[in-house]
Amino acid sequence: MSCVLVVDDSATIRDKVVNTLKEVGLFDEYKEARDGLEGFKTLIDSKADLVICDVDMPRMDGFKFLQLVESRPDLLGIPIIMLTGKMDFSSKIRGLEQGACDYLTKPFDAGELVARVKVQLKLKSLQDELKKANELLKRLTNIDHLTNLFNRRYLTEVLEAEFVRARRNKECLSLIIADIDFFKKVNDTFGHQNGDLVLSSVAAIIQRQLRAYDIAARYGGEEFVLVVPGTNLQGGVMVAERLRQAVLENTFPTPLEHLTVTISSGVATFPSPLVDSIDSLFRQADEALYRAKENGRNRVETMTLPN
Ligand code: GH3
Ligand code: MG
Ligand code: MG
Repeated sequence: MSCVLVVDDSATIRDKVVNTLKEVGLFDEYKEARDGLEGFKTLIDSKADLVICDVDMPRMDGFKFLQLVESRPDLLGIPIIMLTGKMDFSSKIRGLEQGACDYLTKPFDAGELVARVKVQLKLKSLQDELKKANELLKRLTNIDHLTNLFNRRYLTEVLEAEFVRARRNKECLSLIIADIDFFKKVNDTFGHQNGDLVLSSVAAIIQRQLRAYDIAARYGGEEFVLVVPGTNLQGGVMVAERLRQAVLENTFPTPLEHLTVTISSGVATFPSPLVDSIDSLFRQADEALYRAKENGRNRVETMTLPN
């Protein structure tokens, strides 16, 4: 449903604009307002795809209307075409400076109105496409293809922000590094493709265990990192244990139906005597993971706390 809003104190002009646009069927819905304030309220209630707005109006003129629209992030990007007097150059310039995308001089020609509206709609749709493409691109640069978890690049970015937040708010932040045990053997026995399937299954289990603010990333080949904000070491261990149990109990589809996969994890928490930076947080979790491997795998170990 596309909608145009025509803001003008003259009913004659509103009629002419609406009828001209209706004739070519450019929109599904036509809304009218008699001044800037009414126009602004209409726009907030039900967004329009394009606005045609007079300059001189009682109560609130077109410039004030532009200002109000500019101040609302949710109304950003709606094209506004101003209606100005023929010789009124200063209004045209001021309108364009204040965010209008084009102007029409009164009395306007019907063909010119339609042409200018079409240009703005085309621009708007190109901009929307670009925005969508950018969002997709951003998603693709942050996500690991195989597992659909965040990638290492994004994790680094998010962890920095979370670390700053934890320090500022004096909150805990736990980091879990989880590594699949003897994964090389899975590849050697069942082939790389089945190895990939195990990786994405483990990732899906991780995803299911997460709460709203937790972040999980594929950090390396068969190594995953979980950032658990607002959680102390004990809480971090609980998350890691739950995850270990869930992976252990998971069954895979044929030909992996007899395969048991396990993970080992290292957990570290900020703040603590040995953790005052992201580096030390990682180092402690990594050393704990190493001990988990040393101590027999399929287990969770924590950072060492000084006596
Ligand atoms: P450990 O219990 O000590 O962690 O032993 P491991 O065999 O799991 O660890 P190791 O680091 O020796 O081997 C990891 C293997 O993971 C080697 C590598 O070929 C494999 N790998 C890394 N990335 C991928 C991937 O994307 N797909 C598949 N199928 N295998 C991968
Ligand atoms: Mg491994
Ligand atoms: Mg490894």
